[in-house]
Amino acid sequence: MATLFSSEVLGGTLPSTMSDQPLGIRAIFEHAVRAHPRKEIVSRDGAAVVRFTYAAFGRRVAQLAHALRALGVRPGDRVASFAWNGHRHLELYYAVPMIGAVLHTVNIRLFPDQVAYILDHAGDRIVFYDASLTKAVKAAHALAPESGRMFVTMGAAVEPFDGALDYETLLAGEPETYDWPEIDERAAALLCYTSATTGDPKGVLFSHRSTYIHALAICLPDAMGIRERDRLLPIVPMFHVNAWGAPFGGLLTGADFILPMERLDPAGVIELCEQEQVTFSAGVPTVWMAVRDVLKAQGKKLPALRKLIIGGSALPPALLDDLEALGIEAVHAWGMTEMSPIGTVNTYLSELDDKPELQKRERYKQGVFSPIVQWRLIDELGNDVPADGVSRGELLVRGFAVAKQYYDNADATELAFEPDGWFHTGDVCTVDEYGYMEIVDRVKDFIKSGGEWISSVEVENTLMGHPSLKEACVFGVPHPKWQERPVAAVVLRETHDADEAAILAWLTDKLAKWQTPDRIIFIEAIPRTGVGKFLKRELRERYKTLFTDAG
Ligand code: AMP
Repeated sequence: MATLFSSEVLGGTLPSTMSDQPLGIRAIFEHAVRAHPRKEIVSRDGAAVVRFTYAAFGRRVAQLAHALRALGVRPGDRVASFAWNGHRHLELYYAVPMIGAVLHTVNIRLFPDQVAYILDHAGDRIVFYDASLTKAVKAAHALAPESGRMFVTMGAAVEPFDGALDYETLLAGEPETYDWPEIDERAAALLCYTSATTGDPKGVLFSHRSTYIHALAICLPDAMGIRERDRLLPIVPMFHVNAWGAPFGGLLTGADFILPMERLDPAGVIELCEQEQVTFSAGVPTVWMAVRDVLKAQGKKLPALRKLIIGGSALPPALLDDLEALGIEAVHAWGMTEMSPIGTVNTYLSELDDKPELQKRERYKQGVFSPIVQWRLIDELGNDVPADGVSRGELLVRGFAVAKQYYDNADATELAFEPDGWFHTGDVCTVDEYGYMEIVDRVKDFIKSGGEWISSVEVENTLMGHPSLKEACVFGVPHPKWQERPVAAVVLRETHDADEAAILAWLTDKLAKWQTPDRIIFIEAIPRTGVGKFLKRELRERYKTLFTDAG
């Protein structure tokens, strides 16, 4: 009997007459430069803002490709970037893969030993780094000084790296055209390591083919829906899953591309949005929370900004509502490094047109699946769980831009991937009859209390609705009677005041008693991973004896 995911390959079919020209980054680049030569790439560069047309960008990419070849970079070599979202980083995004090498976008927020580990694991030959990050690169290098790696500084460094080359000097005088080679679409183009909420970072090698298909998919109107007339500001870092594909989707559509460099503080983001009339942006919730707070405090709006894609961690409903009140459409999306990363985007389906109540509920969810992603929900025994909006299961995915293994890491691959390619996301979800997926929690973040499973996400979302709380992070702490009980670590808004008893009282009609945290702990800041996600394991460790110490 045919199943939804039959893997039988039919023999005896007739070969088509269509071209099998490889899909890849070159196809995006050549189209962008040719179809939209006058569109802009705008980047902060130190205190200045620099502007290039796509045509000028194309010439610089060619010069960089020549420079890379002159440095001895060969097909298959790994070239690391250690950089913010800036124009030189974007040039690397294209030049490195288009000569057949692999751009390894190192997460600059990892600890030096993790950076040293991934530079080593990737076998990077050269590191291109932003001058403002010299200290961090030096610290990682000091842990593995014998590697023989070359370093190239982008921008003017205050304390240059010993023996480092200068980016602009390398490009100067190189030819402005390049005879780009044809590259197998299955070859690796980019390398990115997961953000390591558990264990060592794991590498995912994106192919030319997966990158191209992902770029097309995110541009669909019901996905991100980037348009030629957009002025796109990717806040999500280019060292975090290729800035969710924006450098490819953006150029493919011909959008103007605005790059913030290190100015990710709310004032810096607002200033750039205003000066550059940004229409479209993408980033994690924390950035937009800070922007919202400043906009509200100053009674300001950003009239040009039409759409924000928010993901990476759950978008609190209160943030979505606040942004909407400021006239900004906030769209919830979900993804993973292993998925290139976009898996779902929240779009209004026409079926909901006459169901306003349902629309309101659905829009907070993570969204509907991208057409390039296949998915299943399974229970602990591996049985499929119905998509009825209530039944929970672990989400498994497979698809054209989904990894089938980790780079050179058989142990991690065996844990996360089924032999037929299904990837265990580690996210527990529901999917409803309209296809909207909602993450209930990470498998490992569920709190097991007296036989009940408490979703830390649900409690966090409720707490984030409290007017005095800036942030809330909920985690399980071992408990002598209940196995685990929820505890909330919260950060108060400036100038606000609330104590534990007041917050617990506020929660009484919002959460069942067994779901309500036993303790509300006030802290200065919630510990985070390199890309700004809550680092729950650190809080679990910090408070692990909270109930046992208390008896
Ligand atoms: P990363 O590979 O670093 O992008 O992390 C992927 C993980 O982040 C997912 O498996 C989710 O647990 C979490 N995540 C990403 N987007 C969302 C979202 N919109 N809501 C909740 N969790 C999310």
